Amino acid sequence: MLRTQVSLRRTVWDRLATRSGVVPPGVAVMAFPPYTEDHELFRRAVRTFAEREIAPHGEEWDREESFPRELFRRAGASGFLGVRFEPAYGGSGLDYWYTGILIEELMRGRNVGVVVSLMVQCEIATSIIGAYGSEALKREWLVPAITGERIAALGITEPGAGSNVAGLGTTARRDGDHYVINGSKIFITNGTIADFVTLAVRTGGPGPYGVSVVVVPTDTPGFSIGRRLRKVMARSSDTAELFFQDCRVPVGNLVGEEGHGFSNIMRLFQGERLVLAYIANSWMREILDATLQYAGEREVFGSALASMPVWRHRFADLMTQLEASRALTWYATELLCAGEPRAEVSVSMAKLFAGELFKRLAAECDQVFGGYGCMEEYFVARATGGISGFAIGAGTSEVMREIIARRTLGSGR
Ligand SMILES: Cc1cc2nc3c(=O)[nH]c(=O)nc-3n(C[C@H](O)[C@H](O)[C@H](O)COP(=O)(O)OP(=O)(O)OC[C@H]3O[C@@H](n4cnc5c(N)ncnc54)[C@H](O)[C@@H]3O)c2cc1C
Repeated sequence: MLRTQVSLRRTVWDRLATRSGVVPPGVAVMAFPPYTEDHELFRRAVRTFAEREIAPHGEEWDREESFPRELFRRAGASGFLGVRFEPAYGGSGLDYWYTGILIEELMRGRNVGVVVSLMVQCEIATSIIGAYGSEALKREWLVPAITGERIAALGITEPGAGSNVAGLGTTARRDGDHYVINGSKIFITNGTIADFVTLAVRTGGPGPYGVSVVVVPTDTPGFSIGRRLRKVMARSSDTAELFFQDCRVPVGNLVGEEGHGFSNIMRLFQGERLVLAYIANSWMREILDATLQYAGEREVFGSALASMPVWRHRFADLMTQLEASRALTWYATELLCAGEPRAEVSVSMAKLFAGELFKRLAAECDQVFGGYGCMEEYFVARATGGISGFAIGAGTSEVMREIIARRTLGSGR
């Protein structure tokens, strides 16, 4: 099993600092993130997996809007679906630093849908069972989720209750030693392929204290799948509407205490939000890398794009903002791993910063590609949805700026 050890091992960043003369040789630098040899070994293992198992198929899986179920088993066999779970259930007993590395490296496969699905499996739908589930629930559902044999989904969002989780309306009425579930869910990742759904239901009155969480096997009579929803991003991940009509599940499927579902979900949302921040940062890294490569190769008016001051400054800004986003996410990881109460604010900041930066970075990078930024054969076009189309056709924004500047300010030479 891999274990975290905080050490002062020098990272790439402090090596750079030493080389550039900021830190005199021989002076110990506090490594941040606090990665050790174990982290690096884990990183290499995940990178190899992403290069072999995801990258060669990424484009095809987006086109097909799905990926093979077998990938869950392969990820499970490599030990990637139980990073933070206890070894007693097949996990590695590690922390969010390893989850972060897992995401950073899986994203090198350049298929965000696959990573979303796998993270639902190993963090978002199952961490609540790991934290609050009974021994029996862990044996029956968590263990096979960690091996990738059984696929998990998390059912919280409803057509009438998204951000407002406390307003959810799917009911679970107690009837002897069963709950009888009625209602529907929407936008559920892994929805059509799941073997079980970790489901938020109303067992009590209105508001947060009436919410509980139950595990619903998808072969339960009364469970049905509505539409498989087609998305314009993360296309390969499975997203669905789910319906529950008089679904009977044993009371033993309750996760944690009745009426504690809302507070348990909110506590675990910290991890889910951190996962999303890592996915966004890693996706931005891939988009920016591909863009820098293109800018180095593409010549306009006799110069490589990457050599033009206007673009160099924009790239410098994007690299700075992405580094800030990553640093904030790492800081939030540190606080979450340390169990600090202020982690909640930092995780929210990291998720907010990364999500908002993505919108700007995607548009800036897509613009670099000109018309190619709207063509599906280009990774950056697919990753950003060709967001710059209107800022390209009939003269790009940069050319418009050049015309405006020349006419109003002169040639500037
Ligand atoms: C790709 C994808 C995968 C998903 N996977 C899952 C999954 O596996 N399981 C699951 O349960 N859900 C899933 N979701 C659903 C997701 O969690 C919800 O979409 C999200 O919580 C927002 O809910 P909503 O879509 O109903 O938006 P709404 O809550 O209707 O929000 C609409 C707008 O109103 C704003 N708003 C809401 N409340 C306030 C407020 N108090 N003040 C100001 N503005 C406000 C929002 O910010 C937003 O801009 C997924 C969504 C996507 C896109």
